[in-house]
Amino acid sequence: MSGMRPSGRLHIGHLVGALAQWVNYPDSVDAFFEIADLHAFTTKYDDPQAIRDDSDEVVLDWLAAGLDPQRATIFLQTAIPEIFELHTYLSMIVPVAWLQRVPTYKEQIEALGADIATYGFLGYPLLQLCDIAVFRADSVPVGRDQLSHLEFGREVVRRFNFLYGPTLVEPTATLSEFPAVPGTDGRKMSKSYGNTIDIADDAETTTKKVRAMITDPLKVRRNDPGRPEICPVFALHHLANAARVALIEERCRSGELGCVACKGELAETLNAWLAPVRARRASLDRERVAQILAAGNEKARVVARATLRDVRRAMKLVP
Ligand code: SF4
Repeated sequence: MSGMRPSGRLHIGHLVGALAQWVNYPDSVDAFFEIADLHAFTTKYDDPQAIRDDSDEVVLDWLAAGLDPQRATIFLQTAIPEIFELHTYLSMIVPVAWLQRVPTYKEQIEALGADIATYGFLGYPLLQLCDIAVFRADSVPVGRDQLSHLEFGREVVRRFNFLYGPTLVEPTATLSEFPAVPGTDGRKMSKSYGNTIDIADDAETTTKKVRAMITDPLKVRRNDPGRPEICPVFALHHLANAARVALIEERCRSGELGCVACKGELAETLNAWLAPVRARRASLDRERVAQILAAGNEKARVVARATLRDVRRAMKLVP
């Protein structure tokens, strides 16, 4: 089970990171992928239309990347009311201090300001656990920064099972290390820095972005020797032009290769690499997204309903 918060179009960092892993999961795995639209409300509660639009865009990017809706269950978080029901039940047994000590809570409030210090934002890791627990997911691919959330979730499951009997599954982390992908300005590629090359960008936009990329600041003239190890253009050559990186490195260091030509080659290879992904995206529309989500929501609810039946029974909420 995994998911993404819909906060805009996905970029090539996602393509070689989480999406590469999602697309290649083994056949023996029954996989669930969630558009975490309620999570988006924790920070963007004042812009519901953007959340709605971004949800569709993210599904389009997933499908473009090769996620197969026949194989994987792709669903919308807010279409599964059992997640919210479980969230309410679990909120009765989770001490506030457990949530306050999740490291990302204070960090995010400091970074994003007091406007996000809502009741919902404090409970965000609990909602994340409910996304997982409602599907009895036993394996969750997470980055190192999410490990504390998962550990919190495991603690809550243990508390529930101790109080009401063994009902929920303790999820384990499948630690994912993704390749570091620099953005056009050399910092980590991230929408919040405005330095991304998006899956949905057309070839012309990609070329423009690559042309504007920063390079080695000491390589001023074409023939100056460069330092590829500090150059984001060189780092992106690794993604789409792996066969030629050794030659590019040698020619950059010797001053034989100029940055304009180097960027031209990168734009060309990135566009060739992304062409089938973009063609797949262009062949899909929002109507198809709606169909895929409707089927995925229904499939996800079958599992979620069964879990909630057991949860209510454990809590003596039904005869
Ligand atoms: S030649 Fe290429 S790798 Fe070398 S500094 Fe210029 S853009 Fe970077």
